[in-house]
Amino acid sequence: MNRKDFLTALGVLPLSAIAMQLKDLERITETFGGSERMPVLFIGHGNPMNAITDTVYSRSWAELGKKLPLPKAILCISAHWLTNGTAVNVNAQQSTIHDFGGFPDELFKVQYPAAGSPEMARAVIQEVKSVKVKEDKEWGLDHGAWSVLKHLYPKANVPVFQMSIDYGKSPEYHYKLGKELSALRNRGVLILSSGNIVHNLGMVSWNEPTKKFDWAIEFDTLVKEQVLKNDPQPLIDYQKNARLAQLAHPTNDHYLPLMYTLGLRDQKDEVNFLTETIDMGSISMRSILFS
Ligand code: ZN
Repeated sequence: MNRKDFLTALGVLPLSAIAMQLKDLERITETFGGSERMPVLFIGHGNPMNAITDTVYSRSWAELGKKLPLPKAILCISAHWLTNGTAVNVNAQQSTIHDFGGFPDELFKVQYPAAGSPEMARAVIQEVKSVKVKEDKEWGLDHGAWSVLKHLYPKANVPVFQMSIDYGKSPEYHYKLGKELSALRNRGVLILSSGNIVHNLGMVSWNEPTKKFDWAIEFDTLVKEQVLKNDPQPLIDYQKNARLAQLAHPTNDHYLPLMYTLGLRDQKDEVNFLTETIDMGSISMRSILFS
């Protein structure tokens, strides 16, 4: 990576943190050299405009994409596909879904013309034993997927399919379901969960990008610490702290994708955080890579 770009991209972080992340990124590259098991990724996607804007986030995704191995397929678990039951889309070609309102026309014109992977989607159905995963042909790629993938793999040259989130289920349920997907890591599938570690849209300060609510920092830090300790249980049980949980996630659609990433973690995985910041007061843009 170009050092200057990287420093610019991480301009909001203190120098010590930048130095640490540079070192980490070099290590990520070394790790991928000899490993056949795919990394697991959680991306805080935030504002859909990241899809078409040069931001610290979109740049970090682009830089990460250059370091990641080329997967055979990408399974995306997005905060924006919530269903009753769990489904995987089995289309051979994916459509780009513009599942938002109130954004510029330019965003509605974005296309991410990736192929699907019916083969790997059906491998998910085979792997998951605890519930019957349904085949879906209606969904394509929502913006939780394409706003990030557009930077990670800009050529759209890797097949992508999504798995929906059964929105009636507990965080523990999603954590355990994530574990059942583990074998896909050995089959060249990059599992990308896309949400946000803190996500309170009602309190977003649209005109104050650097604002950070104390409770947002508190929850985001709690997640970081538990990930570093490799102790996911308090994160699964996050609603025990009702005050903080309600502030960080008035609804938990953007939190549940993290449960899959935590479930997919191997004991020997290394942990790397990408952008570690709070955007517009109440959105955590922390991303996590296990590799
Ligand atoms: Zn979102």
